[in-house]
Amino acid sequence: MPTRSILLCGGAGYIGSHMAHWLAEHGYRVTVLDNLSTGHRDAVRWGELILADLLDPAALDQAFGGRRFDAVMHFCARSLVGESVSQPNAYYANNVAGTLNLLDAMHRHQVGKLVFSSTAAVFGNPCSDCIDEEHDKQPINPYGASKLMTERILSDAAHAYGIRSVALRYFNAAGALPEHGIGEAHRPETHLIPNVLRAALGQGPALKVFGDDYPTRDGTCIRDYVHVQDLAQAHGLALHYMDRADGAHAFNLGNGQGFSVREVIDCARQVSGRPIPYDQAPRRAGDPATLVAASGKARELLGWQPRWTELAPIIDSAWRWHRAPPHWFPALPA
Ligand code: UDP
Repeated sequence: MPTRSILLCGGAGYIGSHMAHWLAEHGYRVTVLDNLSTGHRDAVRWGELILADLLDPAALDQAFGGRRFDAVMHFCARSLVGESVSQPNAYYANNVAGTLNLLDAMHRHQVGKLVFSSTAAVFGNPCSDCIDEEHDKQPINPYGASKLMTERILSDAAHAYGIRSVALRYFNAAGALPEHGIGEAHRPETHLIPNVLRAALGQGPALKVFGDDYPTRDGTCIRDYVHVQDLAQAHGLALHYMDRADGAHAFNLGNGQGFSVREVIDCARQVSGRPIPYDQAPRRAGDPATLVAASGKARELLGWQPRWTELAPIIDSAWRWHRAPPHWFPALPA
């Protein structure tokens, strides 16, 4: 049976809202389930919103009860490395226990396919410049540990309940679709590119560069930035993959090229044409020096072909969103 009706858990958030747009554009029926703890009601523009929390099994039963879903996409998570170090219990509760509840509901209601948002943080401090799926997984923060545990749970769920799954390990999600009114809107914002663009706009506190003594070419951390629209495409391809592959699978998603924090700042300066002042600050807890993906497996088995392969257009899409955000863009804290 073709996969047409999707439950999008966390569809009011940054990556989830881009996923909803992609699914609607490709003819799927979308139902968003979100507790709106970090998501935005106004970002739910391509389907019904069910206001519910994964930590509430009764609400999940109700959500699954009245509707038929062919597959679930699961974006609900706490996802800040630094916060996970200071509030680990919240990360294990939301990310691990929440997913267990979701799997229980799927099992009870006979929904057999799941695409799961995983992360490069499962690898910890990598011992290779380009990380493929087989690389050692030794997370160095509770966020990465919670996602790795969940990947293990998915593997057990495939075996025990026949739930097929694809875990997609994002490297650094970036960019926006300003022409469709969606972009990255966190408050507080902790991610590099939005903070850099805020500095270009002269908004918010001074930009801080966390650490300049890493073993990298300029001493700042190196990351692999991948556009949210390309991530959405990979999720769509994962749905098709599960039609032909049972079991639990995992893929790394990145562009395969790393940029240091200072290189991102330089690129944003060129894109925006504005000065971007910053202060040098100590390292942030839980940050590995370098994370760059080898995504050959996703290209080969899913047929994934990222369209946003250069950093400047990715930053430009985010810049256009930040320069003219919609009315619901959360105000900066005083
Ligand atoms: N970073 C920074 N200043 C900021 C935000 C982030 O220097 O205001 C650094 C951070 O320490 C990391 C890189 O930028 O080395 C990417 O961080 P981000 O939070 O965007 O993504 P993460 O890699 O943690 O998922």
